[in-house]
Amino acid sequence: MSDIIKLLPDSVANQIAAGEVIQRPASVVKELLENSIDAGATQINLIIKDGGKTLIQVTDNGGGMSETDARMCFERHATSKIENASDLFKIKTMGFRGEALASIASISIVELKSRLKDSELGTEVVVKGSVVKSQNPCQCPQGTTIAVKNLFYNTPARRNFLKSENVEKSHIFNEFIRVALANQNIGFKYYYDNKLQLQVDPSNLKQRISGIFGNTYNQRLIPVEEKTDIISISGFVLKPEFARKQKREQFFFINNRFVKAPYLNHSVENAFSELIPEDAHPSFFLFLHTDPSMIDVNVHPTKTEIKFQNESAIYKILLSSVKRALGRFNISPSLDFERETAFDDILFDKNRPVSPPTIDIDPDYNPFKTDKSGNTFLSNRKNEQKWENLYPGMKEADIKSSADKQEHPDLFGKEQQAQPGENFSKATYAGEKKFWQLNERYILTPVKSGLMFIDQQRAHERILYEKFLGRYEAQAPSSQQLLYPIKAELIESDANIMKEILQHINNLGFDISEFGGNTFVINSVPAEIKESEITGHIIDDLIENYKKNLSEPKLDIYKNISRALAKSQAIKHGKVLSEKEMNSIVGELFTCSIPDLSPANKPTLFILTYDELSDRFK
Ligand code: ADP
Ligand code: MG
Repeated sequence: MSDIIKLLPDSVANQIAAGEVIQRPASVVKELLENSIDAGATQINLIIKDGGKTLIQVTDNGGGMSETDARMCFERHATSKIENASDLFKIKTMGFRGEALASIASISIVELKSRLKDSELGTEVVVKGSVVKSQNPCQCPQGTTIAVKNLFYNTPARRNFLKSENVEKSHIFNEFIRVALANQNIGFKYYYDNKLQLQVDPSNLKQRISGIFGNTYNQRLIPVEEKTDIISISGFVLKPEFARKQKREQFFFINNRFVKAPYLNHSVENAFSELIPEDAHPSFFLFLHTDPSMIDVNVHPTKTEIKFQNESAIYKILLSSVKRALGRFNISPSLDFERETAFDDILFDKNRPVSPPTIDIDPDYNPFKTDKSGNTFLSNRKNEQKWENLYPGMKEADIKSSADKQEHPDLFGKEQQAQPGENFSKATYAGEKKFWQLNERYILTPVKSGLMFIDQQRAHERILYEKFLGRYEAQAPSSQQLLYPIKAELIESDANIMKEILQHINNLGFDISEFGGNTFVINSVPAEIKESEITGHIIDDLIENYKKNLSEPKLDIYKNISRALAKSQAIKHGKVLSEKEMNSIVGELFTCSIPDLSPANKPTLFILTYDELSDRFK
């Protein structure tokens, strides 16, 4: 049999490598920006068109490349950054594998122009699918421009795999801000579809954060500073009150490289644990510096995951330094912290009480009340059957027991006394308790077959979800105009999503308009939402939940938005409920078409039956 093993042609090997290094346009952006940083640039401009599918261009004023290097850089394993294996342990540059440009050039058309400082002429190289098409001398400024066109043009499967323009755009933006945060001494400009989106000049970290996230951040930052033998930590955490439901503003940089380090995240979360609600996450921008030999960045090809030699020590150092920073801030709030800018006041008006959502109560509502026809109050509603099945047999007993109480008022304390002549509904409230709350989380209520446990948050989500969806389906959204429209400034990536779904959100009873840039104005909200609870956060929460729901690809957009909205507006675990509120929730839950499941298909309730109970006592 003849030999069958062959060496892969370079172009194929590069494409395979590209599969690992270049997942999407944002990966190209990261590699190009990092190369410019390694080249010592002080100004870097990023130009993107069409979600990066047609053009990704990075221009820098760094060292530039010689004629030979400008061609060599597209070869696999071509790097100027390491020479031998021992160099691997002292890497200070962002790249070192010599893989990025070779990979990118194998799946796109790359035009490179570069000029060294002391050369009069630069050189221009065009590469298409790993093949050098031309190389010519050219006029160009010192530094390098690399334009990547038609990414994935020769790998249609991967091109088709790309998400919508806005999704790719937000990945790109996220990558861009990571690099811009880590390199405050470099000026950046970011253009999208020929429009300047963001410009930041060389500055310090604080200014860089405000430059990217908005001036409001200036007042929110608490400095963290720690130096030990194994690691030094610097940067900022956001004041606890700005903790968010989502983890998106959690930035760790190790030796100026953005990394994902869940273990370290946990340490910071731990430091905040007693200061913020359980479901909130702190925001932070923390820079860790350590001897490069202490870390192994080689863990992942795109190098955002990192391994430390002494993780547990670093965990503790981080925990205590963040705690100390928070402590300092608590003890001596400086004047600086008390003054917020005008825009801050709109978003986070200190006089606007931050109260958890409440629910509407119909004080006269009583599921046990009978009307003239002898039907229960619920009988006109959809779920009579379900409700009845739970409660039959109880109605008479209830009536009887509350009647008993009226006869023996002294047994039931003055306040709870039912006055003669009061209607049944009041007598029931005043008399026997029917709803209990357990652990500020569960509603307990006796039913025919035993004891029903209802998860208050999930139940309320179900109620709101069906309301929102119902209004949409009936094309009868009812909204309430806000007295004071609320401005909400979103980060770029969320603003893009918002623009995509704005029309749909408005169809549910909102009136939200674009205010320019990444700012939106809420003019009206659905009637189900209480005006007193509306803050700039409402959109943040909505989008965050919307994004989470995207993991369910079959979920239709209105269901997603209704679900997201229900989730953000529902009463939460931890909210103390009055008996009336519990009554109202349970009543409304059983008018829903699927009372026993939350919109995310988790159980809302279960019944501990008498049989199960008696089994326990065997
Ligand atoms: P790596 O960054 O891992 O070395 P790359 O494929 O990203 O590999 O780049 C290959 C080489 O091309 C680099 O080592 C560097 O010498 C050169 N290079 C790439 N981009 C630039 C740039 N913007 N300016 C100067 N040289 C560059
Ligand atoms: Mg590189």
